[in-house]
Amino acid sequence: MPELPEVEVTRRSFVAAIEGAQVLSADLGKPLRWPLGCAPEQLTGRVVRTVERRGKYLLVALDQGWLLLHLGMSGSLLFSSHLPPPGVHDHFELVTSNGTLRLHDPRRFGAVVYVDSLADPQAHKLLGHLGMEPLSPAFELAAFGAALKQRKTAIKQVLLCGDVVVGVGNIYASEALFLAGIRPTARAASLSRPRVARLYGAIRDVLTRALEKGGSTLRDFSSANGESGHFQLDAMVYGRVGLPCKVCASPIKLIRQGQRSSFYCPVCQKR
Ligand SMILES: [Zn+2]
Repeated sequence: MPELPEVEVTRRSFVAAIEGAQVLSADLGKPLRWPLGCAPEQLTGRVVRTVERRGKYLLVALDQGWLLLHLGMSGSLLFSSHLPPPGVHDHFELVTSNGTLRLHDPRRFGAVVYVDSLADPQAHKLLGHLGMEPLSPAFELAAFGAALKQRKTAIKQVLLCGDVVVGVGNIYASEALFLAGIRPTARAASLSRPRVARLYGAIRDVLTRALEKGGSTLRDFSSANGESGHFQLDAMVYGRVGLPCKVCASPIKLIRQGQRSSFYCPVCQKR
């Protein structure tokens, strides 16, 4: 599943190239997770102002309205002026004067939704519940700590939920908790201030490193200019059950939390 760093790397890979482009056509393949929300012909003639990101949504700002794109479980975007004809898994294309933005999504959990404004109820439904952006200056330690104090559930599940902080998926949550020395099952509300501070730093650290290295934790990830993501997170715990901890050599453990795998070191993450 594409996570926040992949989505941000994707955005950066085509934002400059698509800015100022005029939409020539929007073409749909098989249905995606939600309907487009307008007739595709309505997009013809509009101009792409820029591409922003909120959580794992890419927000394509048009001179009138927005396209909200989500990569779902298996989606990837390509932007190029030389694309082969669409294949069976290509379900959306925005053909512009600068090139074509194409969504390739074999499992079709991705989405492209048009809204007139970000205040539109549909936009609010998709974006309104999203937590703080972990890489933005608005992500503040005090606010993070205050939000965790309200949660009685396990910290790992609070991170995955995305309503406190967005974009910390399973891999990054596991790694950040390891770096912070916090067991995934620890109750969020019970974390002391120094531990919250360590976790806050660890989340920024893990995501920043993933972003710098090209952001790929997904095997078939490619950023929108077709360049393969070359970064495999150098995981300390994720996917390493039974292998020795890279810090203390204890075998890494695996538990299930809310249908998701949690990897941790029983020594480095005592509680
Ligand atoms: Zn260890």
